Amino acid sequence: MSDLDAIIVGAGPNGLAAAVTLARAGLAVRVYEKGGTIGGGARTMEMTLPGYRHDVCSAVHPLAFESRFFREFGLRRRVDFAVPDASFAQPLDGGRAAIAYRDLDRTAATLGRDGDAYARLMRPLVDHASGVADFTGHALIRVPADPVAAVWFGLRTLEQGSGAWNARFREDAAPALLTGVAAHTILALPSLAAAGAGLALSTYGHARGWPIPIGGSQSIVDAMADDLRAHGGEIVTDHEVGSLRELPAARAVLLDVVPRDFLRIAGDDVPSGYRGALERFRYGGAVAKVDFALSGPVPWANEEVRSAGTVHVGGTRAEMAASENLISRGGLPDAPYVLVAQPSGFDPSRAPAGGHVLWTYTHVPSGSTADRAEVVIRQIERFAPGFRDLIVGVNSRNAVEVEAENPNYPGGDIAAGAPALWQLLKRPVVSPDPWRTPLDGVYLCSASTSPGPGVHGLAGWHAARSALRHTFGTRISPDLSPR
Ligand SMILES: Cc1cc2nc3c(=O)[nH]c(=O)nc-3n(C[C@H](O)[C@H](O)[C@H](O)COP(=O)(O)OP(=O)(O)OC[C@H]3O[C@@H](n4cnc5c(N)ncnc54)[C@H](O)[C@@H]3O)c2cc1C
Repeated sequence: MSDLDAIIVGAGPNGLAAAVTLARAGLAVRVYEKGGTIGGGARTMEMTLPGYRHDVCSAVHPLAFESRFFREFGLRRRVDFAVPDASFAQPLDGGRAAIAYRDLDRTAATLGRDGDAYARLMRPLVDHASGVADFTGHALIRVPADPVAAVWFGLRTLEQGSGAWNARFREDAAPALLTGVAAHTILALPSLAAAGAGLALSTYGHARGWPIPIGGSQSIVDAMADDLRAHGGEIVTDHEVGSLRELPAARAVLLDVVPRDFLRIAGDDVPSGYRGALERFRYGGAVAKVDFALSGPVPWANEEVRSAGTVHVGGTRAEMAASENLISRGGLPDAPYVLVAQPSGFDPSRAPAGGHVLWTYTHVPSGSTADRAEVVIRQIERFAPGFRDLIVGVNSRNAVEVEAENPNYPGGDIAAGAPALWQLLKRPVVSPDPWRTPLDGVYLCSASTSPGPGVHGLAGWHAARSALRHTFGTRISPDLSPR
């Protein structure tokens, strides 16, 4: 017999959020993690040269201050963050750049004749940033807490997700700034889901910034693990769970895995209707990740780009849409969209004195084995001549290697399931409680469940609250604050 109340499979941010929530409710919790270290998509380690610490997956955390779980957990009191004044930048040819500051008016001033149009688009969302975070941070099948925010958000998503996306703009900077964020989704452009995600992330960028954790993303998951252990929880690493039947007895099991792996782990006990729904769950486009150790900061042609935590490299809206649409048809663009984060500009602990780490990835079709290091270097060189000469170390992983490292990214899909509109409503099933499975006491809590990808812990927190209600018979939400 075991004394465990709950078992969590997977120590990603969602698995750990679930574990912390249940442990803080006074339950005996154990986490099993396949990898040798905890954190899943929020690990930080040396990957190029000694002393250069790279974020293996996530690097920038727009949801760190917006996630309701992190707010209740008091993340800002446990982890130090640098919050760049410039959340993200969009370099353009000719040494130009659009810069998204934590100040909408200052942003508008970088956007030429489209400054006012951009400010009118974003102002209602920035003024209702918490409402936008609430609306996008739940299962979408519910009444929003701030209906005004939901309406503003919906109308703007319809505009920016349709062929009318350029209607309010006259120049190239503002549309490029918006598309650089929307393109995070690895979807065809324009599309409603890409527009919605882009607008939500832009809102947070203007309202409270895109924070970078001091010490790397690992600091966030380490804070959760510390709290879990302080409340009696255990974490067992190097332990892959292959079947529910091999687990010690516990009243609840919460799985931080994708639907494909849930079906394998749960086996024949899954009712056919639910099995069919999970078999229809679709995985999306992928990434190839390239990390650099540098001997100095990136020499962006536009100096102001240095002040941004994140840089969206890919040129104009039309260029980024063309390259993303080619990928969604299975092609590999010569001049792709590249997501770049420059954490060591804000957190010197990441590299030896004078050195820098640069985090990049670019989109590729699912399951691609293409090494994209050279293409990424060429794209950055276009906006930062001389970049190549600063490179002292490179770690390049193709999409297949991204999945080999973490099974939650099938084919290299870092969203753990295509974030298309229909699959945001149905994540992984259409339900106000999509974390609860038909198996008694068994819950799904990965980014394949609502509200989807990102380091926010919300899927784990919602799943744990569902388990508290349905398996442990309490509606009381435990106090998660630091104490
Ligand atoms: C390259 C990349 C860049 C990203 N950039 C960002 C970013 O900048 N900002 C952001 O917010 N998000 C980013 N993301 C997304 C973010 O990392 C994920 O959405 C988030 O980590 C999902 O958390 P999770 O707990 O659901 O899953 P994961 O973090 O993937 O964790 C799942 C864990 O479960 C373990 N596991 C799986 N199966 C088993 C099993 N059978 N037995 C035991 N353990 C198992 C895995 O080893 C893993 O540790 C990025 C992701 C990637 C890959």
